[in-house]
Amino acid sequence: MVLTAELQQQLSQYLTLLEKEVVLKACLGEDPASQEVKSFLEEVVALSGKLSLTSADLKLKPSFTIDRKDYDSGICFAGLPLGHEFESFVLALLQVGGRAPKISPEQKARIEGLKQTCHFETFVSLSCHNCPDVVQALNIISLLNPNISHSMIEGGSFKDLADKYQVMAVPTIFLDGKEWASGRQNLDQILDLLSPQEKPTYQVDEPYDCLVIGGGPAGASAAIYTARKGLKVALVAKSFGGQVNETLGIENMIGQIYTEGPKLMQQIRAHVEHYPIDLIENVTVSSLEVEDEKVKVSLGEQGYLTSKTLIVATGAHWRLINVPGEKEFKAKGISYCPHCDGPLFKDKPVVVIGGGNSGIEAALDMANLASSVTVLEYADHLKADAVLLERLREKSNVTIVTKANTTAIEGQGKVQSLTYVDRDSQESHTIKADGVFILVGLVPNTDFVKNCLTLNDKGEIIVDERGQSNQERIFAAGDCTNSTYKQIVISMGSGATAALSAHDYLMRQG
Ligand SMILES: Cc1cc2nc3c(=O)[nH]c(=O)nc-3n(C[C@H](O)[C@H](O)[C@H](O)COP(=O)(O)OP(=O)(O)OC[C@H]3O[C@@H](n4cnc5c(N)ncnc54)[C@H](O)[C@@H]3O)c2cc1C
Repeated sequence: MVLTAELQQQLSQYLTLLEKEVVLKACLGEDPASQEVKSFLEEVVALSGKLSLTSADLKLKPSFTIDRKDYDSGICFAGLPLGHEFESFVLALLQVGGRAPKISPEQKARIEGLKQTCHFETFVSLSCHNCPDVVQALNIISLLNPNISHSMIEGGSFKDLADKYQVMAVPTIFLDGKEWASGRQNLDQILDLLSPQEKPTYQVDEPYDCLVIGGGPAGASAAIYTARKGLKVALVAKSFGGQVNETLGIENMIGQIYTEGPKLMQQIRAHVEHYPIDLIENVTVSSLEVEDEKVKVSLGEQGYLTSKTLIVATGAHWRLINVPGEKEFKAKGISYCPHCDGPLFKDKPVVVIGGGNSGIEAALDMANLASSVTVLEYADHLKADAVLLERLREKSNVTIVTKANTTAIEGQGKVQSLTYVDRDSQESHTIKADGVFILVGLVPNTDFVKNCLTLNDKGEIIVDERGQSNQERIFAAGDCTNSTYKQIVISMGSGATAALSAHDYLMRQG
């Protein structure tokens, strides 16, 4: 059995929603991987009378398409769509089977308006929580536009192809055989890449009562609190979800013993959408200007918004180490997401830079996959929690080097080695590495507020206990501020504080 009893039960419930007959067309061989896909498809088909299985000649083996009797959807899965991709498979089945994808009329019109003929291939790993967004978006585009087709390729089953395409990070999208994009992308971001001329623009002169910048836990909490006060609110975000979307297991979200980042942010999105909040996504704020009775927020080429009060909740991003090779080899061996890219380095030597909690968690993950793991820490000791270090010491394929100053990451087309200098002896060492995971802390996303808000020496916005910045109309919350601790519940709390303060400010203005 490929499907567990639990998955079978869940799937058979979903399959009752099928409205039309769906045909799975499979290209299979005698090899074990093909036989596993065959068993999987047979188990799926047995769950609904609306499903049937036939054979087909497709580019990749094992792979299968999901079509209607009278319509080829263009959707193909190469390898087994289990793990995080099981949801993509179920959604594809339902959408091909007549359930309309949950997208806006504007998104539907943009997809149907695409004129170009494209074949996309997305390399994924089943442990990647960023990959399903891309797979599901491209599947919807394929289904709704007959000029476009999409194959999900499970990198672990197609190692030779992944090596040929030099895939070193997932998700990586290829368009007609050429690398097109990598990293998490949602439907709007993919549509913006496909038809940049149709990016939405904004010219909002009638100010909102409160504008929140940031779609992480701080921004979402601030938007919900201000909306519940009856204010006219917008939330603008580069990408809804923030760092939480990058987090697999969360065990300190009070009230939930265990949850996962993308799931939590889906629940938070539903909570935001429950209120009349203008959710403006895939838009980057480039600067702020404080005017007499409002703040003008520039969205670069995409226009501007205005608001009587502003809450900045833009969080933080991974710190770069700024050495030669770091930019050049991004997604070519350098990774910031061990959960996503780890499986691509199976049986290969890797380096983890950073001996804090994130670095040591990555080293523990990779010790089970890679042939060897070298942890490089700049300081003279590792800073991770004792419990993690204890587990790390049990791993026989991990080497720890402290007082190591990384000076370069080298390779040809992809990472091949890394050089560091021992800070005591000043000796230079070069180690062979196919993958380098850089986990050396976070930097606040505050460059765009520098001209009008006071920052501390770490670049964090200085706020008081009410979340108030040095500007009377501007408040801030979460990881972009000088709060001592950076955690989800702390961000939510500070978002609520900033929201109540913004409301209080407006009440006093009358
Ligand atoms: C790998 C990892 C694991 C973690 N694990 C945990 C954990 O288990 N438990 C826990 O409590 N915390 C954990 N954290 C910390 C937690 O995720 C953060 O404290 C929290 O997400 C901060 O929330 P935030 O809303 O302030 O910022 P973020 O989550 O960073 O969100 C920032 C938002 O602002 C948007 N944005 C940024 N710049 C702009 C701009 N110029 N214009 C428009 N939008 C912009 C972003 O797109 C995003 O939507 C973890 C963090 C990481 C990286």
